[in-house]
Amino acid sequence: MSEPGPAARRAAETVSLARFLAATRAEGPGERTAIWVQGCAIRCPGCFNPQLWSFRGGTRVSPVELARRVLDAGTDGLTLLGGEPFDQAAALARVAAAVSAAGRSVMTFTGYTRAQLAAAVDAGRDDVAALLAATDLLVAGPFQADRIDTNRPWVGSTNQEFVLLSDRFPGLLDELSGSPDRVEVTVDRAGRIAVNGWAELDALDELLAGLRR
Ligand code: SF4
Repeated sequence: MSEPGPAARRAAETVSLARFLAATRAEGPGERTAIWVQGCAIRCPGCFNPQLWSFRGGTRVSPVELARRVLDAGTDGLTLLGGEPFDQAAALARVAAAVSAAGRSVMTFTGYTRAQLAAAVDAGRDDVAALLAATDLLVAGPFQADRIDTNRPWVGSTNQEFVLLSDRFPGLLDELSGSPDRVEVTVDRAGRIAVNGWAELDALDELLAGLRR
């Protein structure tokens, strides 16, 4: 995990937001508000979101404004996805801490391993420590296209690790195996189709083909 450069430090006051979804049941336990951030330095081969790799693009939003939007959504909690949340950990830690302080849960996906995050904290990365401190459920590890996980919900590959960082989800780890994945398809008034969650590609193609008929 590399040190943030000057541009990243300048940007630390804002979140680079790629997508905001007010309510979903496909991105973690219960009903959650999901935030996809723009930018990922990890770049796993086979990543489903390569359009989120670039650190250019996205919309700059203040942590205060983003936390307000999350709390206004009234869901059980916040899920942070990417892109890579820990590549903009300082600003996201402020969002996550505000959500947590309001009594909502925080789930954070990362392509970094638990060991890489621990090493960053040991090296003095307060931003990484702060985002971990505000996270209840961490999903850690890069996507590995040759190890697709069809047994646990929300994750892409079997190497990815669920880590409970608080006592907010007792029993969750025991319930994961065999839990179904969900995919959500939204069609807005203009006919634009948006998808989130996780489904096997053949099933997703079939579903989308049916919608276009
Ligand atoms: S960490 Fe996530 S967003 Fe980044 S390349 Fe890997 S799968 Fe894609």
